[in-house]
Amino acid sequence: MPTFGNAQLKLLERLCNVIAISGDESEVRNIVLKEVKPYADEVKVDALGSVLATRLGRGRKRTRVMLDAHMDEVGFMIVDEDGDGLYRFETVGGIDVHHLVGKQVFVGKERTPGVIGAKPIHLMNGDEYTRKVPLDALRIDVGLSGKAKVGDRAGFATRFRRVGPSILAKSIDDRIGIATLIQLFRDLPPNIDLCAAFSVQEEIGLRGAKVAAQYFNPDMAIAIDSTPANDLPLHDGSENMSYNTKLGLGPAIYIADGSTLHDPRLVRFLRETAEAEKIPYQIRQPGGGGTDSGAIQRSLAGIPTVSVSVPHRYTHSPVSIARVDDWKHTINLLHAALKRITPELLILR
Ligand SMILES: [Zn+2]
Repeated sequence: MPTFGNAQLKLLERLCNVIAISGDESEVRNIVLKEVKPYADEVKVDALGSVLATRLGRGRKRTRVMLDAHMDEVGFMIVDEDGDGLYRFETVGGIDVHHLVGKQVFVGKERTPGVIGAKPIHLMNGDEYTRKVPLDALRIDVGLSGKAKVGDRAGFATRFRRVGPSILAKSIDDRIGIATLIQLFRDLPPNIDLCAAFSVQEEIGLRGAKVAAQYFNPDMAIAIDSTPANDLPLHDGSENMSYNTKLGLGPAIYIADGSTLHDPRLVRFLRETAEAEKIPYQIRQPGGGGTDSGAIQRSLAGIPTVSVSVPHRYTHSPVSIARVDDWKHTINLLHAALKRITPELLILR
């Protein structure tokens, strides 16, 4: 089993605390490059900004395996200046405007602190109490520091916290995948050539992964991500039957989502690996949503692809919650799977 402890959690903390809104992923990219370079046979930053790192195995008849995790997170882009320290903004990626009022953000490379302004309750009248505030009524207020400019990205100003068995942080989607991929890259079994794609722009349409798959042309691929758990009790006390995944049940293996029917050979292989190694796992409820697998599977002449995610609650909000053990089991499952891969796995049965 790969090493798992304080060093891995420290790396995840660094990854969650930097900001990398889609199209401006340099802060995560710099960490990734530093972590993978010592182990890589080849590292390249492609035209979109993804890190494409290759590490060759040592065995005969090696399988070419692409592992993908996305570096970007949802956030904001400054689109206009109103003066007086106030800026209009658009969301980048899927963000519910409900989550925004009163939240602190960092703007631009200088990390100018700001707040997404809200009208105080004392000044509200009529239906303002109950109405959803439209995005175009919100502003980022940087308090006259004047350092923001149009095109700057802004991200949630949340600090990583470890609380007992849980992690509270922003952008667990998908820094936990990035940290997993770094760990697997260091600890490579000899039977595979690992093509690691640290992709850009997943949150706005799986763009980096598409280019990465075309560059690597792998025999198979696994997208490593983090998926919403939605496992809270329902407000009316009835049983929650659409939980997607649940915290604490281990890595979530995908069968079908909004953009992919996952390769049945690889789904079966991951389940068999988990059962043989006694690693807990769960099947993500088939349904909407998706990962980079949607772009990878349909690249070139088609690539056998599956997804594995660490579950978390409160997706695309200022703070998400995941369990440390779910993450550890995800690393262990993927590591065990990589060790067991043979070319025969991909022969159609
Ligand atoms: Zn994601």
